Amino acid sequence: ASAAPLLAVRDLNGWYDESHVLHGINFDVKPGEVVTLLGRNGAGKTTTLRAIMGILGKRQGSVQFEGTELIGLQPRAIAKAGIAFCPEERGIFASLSVDENLMLPPEVKPGGLSREAVLEMFPNLRERLGSQGTKLSGGEQQMLAIGRILRTGAKFLLLDEPTEGLAPVIVQQIGRTLVQLKNQGFTIVLVEQNFRFAASVADRHYVVEQGRVIDTIPNADLADNIDKLHAYLGV
Ligand code: ATP
Repeated sequence: ASAAPLLAVRDLNGWYDESHVLHGINFDVKPGEVVTLLGRNGAGKTTTLRAIMGILGKRQGSVQFEGTELIGLQPRAIAKAGIAFCPEERGIFASLSVDENLMLPPEVKPGGLSREAVLEMFPNLRERLGSQGTKLSGGEQQMLAIGRILRTGAKFLLLDEPTEGLAPVIVQQIGRTLVQLKNQGFTIVLVEQNFRFAASVADRHYVVEQGRVIDTIPNADLADNIDKLHAYLGV
């Protein structure tokens, strides 16, 4: 028997002011899965994450998380329900040190990783604790951003292009971390352009085009669908 979805997105529509961007997004995420949203620039992947998180001006449809309807809830309530969002721009405080970023807010939320646990997961950060946010490499910034959201205690993570602009060796390191998180029971929705990376971490891929999910590809079938995927992504 397959598990009930942890997140069920149904006919999700979203707007920026008058601009209708999401036109009925549908997908499921089961507990412990890693799924990706793949698609060209402007397809609506980031907007989908923002709509789930409640940080889009207007949204309609249904987003059920553990059976609770999130449409109509404020972003704070959605975060409190156990969802964390790591935006593409990473959301770290440039003027604060790594340590200050990690300790903001100072208290770890129930179920969240302690400062020490984050540093064990990302040993690179330990050597950079006194460095200012802006002085970090892209990879270090990404690790700090993921480390920060792990302190919230959320077990459901929305990650927007965590590998963007990173060196291959760092991409691999992030990939190992995501697999480690999955093995610890985290559930992850990943927006990705790098589909070698996506293939190395995900159970399933949803292809987004013009604000809709137009295809679903199990990771095990990815190799058989590579031509189709290239066509979707225009690569
Ligand atoms: P990318 O990788 O470029 O972020 P994406 O698939 O995540 O691609 P979105 O960022 O979700 O795409 O963008 C979907 C559509 O919404 C695009 O047409 C984009 O131009 C538009 N859009 C994105 N952000 C805004 C905004 N703040 N105001 C108005 N329109 C926006």
